[in-house]
Amino acid sequence: MSRASATHHRDLRTGQSIWSARRRPAIAAQQLTRDIACDVVVVGAGVSGALIAEALSDAGLNTVIVDRRGPAEGSTAASTAMLQYELDTPLSLMAERIGREKAERIWRRSRQSVDALRERTERLDLAVDGATRGSIYLDGAVLDAGGLAIEADARRRAGFEVELLKPAAVQERYGIKGRHALIGFGNYSADPRRLTAGYLNVALARGARLYSPVDICDIVPTGDGVTLVSARGPAIRARHAVMATGYEMMKGIPRKGNKIISSWSIATRPQPRAIWPTAAMIWEAADPYLYIRTTPRGEIICGGEDEEIGDAELRDAKLPDKAATLSLKLAALLPGVDATPTYSWAGSFGDSPVGTPTIGRIPGMPNCYAAMGYGGNGITFSMMAAQILRGLICGYGDPDADLVSFHRKF
Ligand SMILES: Cc1cc2nc3c(=O)[nH]c(=O)nc-3n(C[C@H](O)[C@H](O)[C@H](O)COP(=O)(O)OP(=O)(O)OC[C@H]3O[C@@H](n4cnc5c(N)ncnc54)[C@H](O)[C@@H]3O)c2cc1C
Repeated sequence: MSRASATHHRDLRTGQSIWSARRRPAIAAQQLTRDIACDVVVVGAGVSGALIAEALSDAGLNTVIVDRRGPAEGSTAASTAMLQYELDTPLSLMAERIGREKAERIWRRSRQSVDALRERTERLDLAVDGATRGSIYLDGAVLDAGGLAIEADARRRAGFEVELLKPAAVQERYGIKGRHALIGFGNYSADPRRLTAGYLNVALARGARLYSPVDICDIVPTGDGVTLVSARGPAIRARHAVMATGYEMMKGIPRKGNKIISSWSIATRPQPRAIWPTAAMIWEAADPYLYIRTTPRGEIICGGEDEEIGDAELRDAKLPDKAATLSLKLAALLPGVDATPTYSWAGSFGDSPVGTPTIGRIPGMPNCYAAMGYGGNGITFSMMAAQILRGLICGYGDPDADLVSFHRKF
C-alpha cells in the first residue's frame, strides 16, 4: 500500500557540501514493520527533530522519531550552521514592525536559545566541531552607517553587549576595507550533521526509537491523542505528535507568509594561516547578504546570493555561476585568503516575513504541534522549538510561546 504524504515533497539540496566529505556519524535506525505506541512521535530527523526528541526524552517521555529519508538527510545536511542569536531582521527594524517589547523579547529568547544549545551540547559532551564566535555585521543596503548606530543603541537598550566600529578600526582589526561594523559576541557554530547525530543518539540511549524510512501520510486525531499512518501501512499511536519536517510543510496548515527561496554556498580548503583575528563570523546588513565563517579546521564557508526561486532545477542550474560569484565576493572582502571553492552546494531555504519562526499547537489539530524554524536563524529556532514544545507538551508552558504561535498577528 502506498499513499500520498502528509507533507509536501521537495528536492531540498544539491551539489557537494563540506559536510558530505566528513565521516557520516552512525545513528541506529529501525524498520517500522508493525503498529507501535508511544507518548510523543516526532516526524522529521533533521536538527529540529533531534533537538526536540532529546528534550522530550529528557523529560521522561517515551519518544519515537520517524523520517522518510533518514537522519540529517534533509536541509540540515546543507546548512552552513552559523548559530547566531542575531536575527536576520535587525532589532531596530523588527521593533518598527511588531513593536519594541515583542522585538526585544524575541531577540532575547534567541540569545537564550543559542546559549542553551552551546551549554547543552557541551554538557552532553557531544563532538560537533562546536566553536563560540563573535560576529562582524557590516553596513549595507538594509542598514547604512547611521542605521548601524541606531541598531547598536537598540541592542544596548535590550541588554546586549555590542561594539560599533568605524571603517579605520574595522580595517585595522579585521583587514576589511571601507565598511562600518557592529560587533556582536557569543554566537556558536557546529557541524550540523554531527549536531543532529549527537542529539539523536542521546535520545536513543534514553530509550527513544528512530524509524526510517517512514513516510507519514495521514494524521488522525483520536480522543486522547493522535494516530499517524505511514505510507507502507503500520501506524503510530501517540499522545502527542510534533511535525519537525523542515521546509516540507505539512499540507493544509497555515503558512504564516512563509515561502521557499534558494541559497548557495561554497567552502574553501583549510587556509594556511590564521585567517582573521578571532575568526568571527562575518555578515552584512543587506538583502540578500553574504555570510562567512570558518571551521575549526580553518576552512572558510561562504554563503548567500539568495533568490526567490522555489524550483529546484533552476536553483541547481545556477550553482556554477553562484559559486563563482561567492568566490569573487569572498576574495574581494578578504584579499588574503584563497577563495577557490573546494565544495559548492545549493539548498532550498524557508523565508519568513519578519524573520521569526512558527512553533506551537497546530490550529484545528488537537495534540499536534509544529516546529517551523523559517528564516536565516533556522537552527537557533530548532533549539527554541525544543524548549517551547517541551514546555507545552509537559504542561508547564513557556513565557514566549505567544511570540511564535500560529495565532500571533505578525
Ligand atoms: C544552504 C543553507 C544554509 C543555511 N544556513 C544556516 C545557518 O547558517 N544558520 C542557521 O541557523 N540555519 C541555517 N540554515 C537553515 C537550517 O539549516 C534549517 O533551518 C534546518 O536545517 C532545518 O532543520 P529541520 O530539522 O527543521 O529540517 P530538515 O533537516 O529538512 O529535516 C526535516 C526532515 O523531515 C522529514 N520529513 C518531511 N516530511 C516527512 C513525512 N511526511 N514523513 C516523514 N518524514 C518527513 C524529511 O525527510 C527531513 O529529513 C541553512 C539552510 C540552508 C539550506
